[in-house]
Amino acid sequence: MKEENQKKKIAILGSTGSIGTQALEVISLHPEVFEVEVLTAHNNAELLVAQAAEFRPGSVVIANEQLYDKVFAALDPLGIKVYTGHHAIAQLMQQDQLDIVLTAMVGYSGLLPTIEAIKAGHTIALANKETLVVAGALITQLAKKHGVNIYPVDSEHSAIFQCLAGEWQNPIEKLILTASGGPFRGKKRDELAQVTKLQALKHPNWSMGAKITIDSASLMNKGLEVIEAKWLFAVKEEQIQVIVHPQSIIHSMVQFQDGSIKAQMGLPDMKLPIQYALGYPGRLNNDYPRFDFSKYPSLTFEEPDISTFRNLDLAYSAMKKAGNMPCVLNAANEIAVECFLKDKIGFLEMSEVIEECMDRIAFISDPDLETYIQTDQDTRIKALELIA
Ligand code: NDP
Ligand code: MG
Repeated sequence: MKEENQKKKIAILGSTGSIGTQALEVISLHPEVFEVEVLTAHNNAELLVAQAAEFRPGSVVIANEQLYDKVFAALDPLGIKVYTGHHAIAQLMQQDQLDIVLTAMVGYSGLLPTIEAIKAGHTIALANKETLVVAGALITQLAKKHGVNIYPVDSEHSAIFQCLAGEWQNPIEKLILTASGGPFRGKKRDELAQVTKLQALKHPNWSMGAKITIDSASLMNKGLEVIEAKWLFAVKEEQIQVIVHPQSIIHSMVQFQDGSIKAQMGLPDMKLPIQYALGYPGRLNNDYPRFDFSKYPSLTFEEPDISTFRNLDLAYSAMKKAGNMPCVLNAANEIAVECFLKDKIGFLEMSEVIEECMDRIAFISDPDLETYIQTDQDTRIKALELIA
């Protein structure tokens, strides 16, 4: 057990979201191990204030400037510093006293804060997979330069990370990422043309934020995860396979050069990978429900249907093309999902917008940070033009 002054000091970027709130549940079960130093939210001022009143971080950020006064009035009397604006999140990452930064914001917004956190030498617990999709080469180079470890929170990557424990010297032959298949598994294109956002928002196994839930329904989430895996585990595109496993009990697998496969299993509960990333290298105790084999007489596997769910294929293409192409894929997808959630486009049109953007945005083979920022902006404009 750690002494009071040796607690791990945690910043949670996106503390009011699905991952953020579950991370606080994990932390509240282990007050002897963790201390919350920074919490951030975009719009949910009420929950941010409630979280800050309970966990007493040194600072919070409410990104939406219009909500600053409200948050300040509630937290200043408690001695908690309150900041606002998107730059404030990145700036706060420069403080020395953090040990772990949990990146649990949605989409591209995680990129700049993650870069600052790495430059400051903080360990990253990475939920925000889009950061690695947009700028995987830059992020992994920076992490290497600053001696920073990036621990995965995504359940598939956590599973792979757990399978690799004790295997660091052994070459990976293949990573096998499992996918639930989402709410539309087995459906064909004519049926998908009709689906609504309410149907898409009902994931069979996981309760998550809206953006990733739509990504799961379209298989883009798995595409983003394939790119995430490439950077986290330094493997080649052809070493990453996706297999649909509707029960979501095997969270992913690693095949070694002797053909042996290790799998990590458990009930689908994001608190487990969050806890593993925050507690690494230890395993913290908990009393969450345990997996019962008798309730799962069969675990099944099938090939993903990439001619119906084209996003997975588009993600593989973007990964193979490399350069700024995954950044184009990500930005186009963010706009497509946003517009699908506003009923501006149908489910299948999301892939069309993404493919069109990948065709039309200028390809840059060796991007730097400015290129990524520009590519992200250009792609958003192009995607909105295509949708208008
Ligand atoms: P949510 O939508 O539930 O939460 C997102 C959080 O980020 C909220 O705190 C939100 O604040 C904040 N936020 C959103 N946009 C911005 C922005 N532009 N600037 C600053 N803060 C922002 O998302 P999830 O928790 O589901 O997902 C977070 C990340 O984790 C994503 O990258 C996702 O892919 C990844 N992930 C999630 C999993 C899950 O089970 N949920 C599983 C694996 C990965 P506010 O509440 O105020 O809007
Ligand atoms: Mg996942």
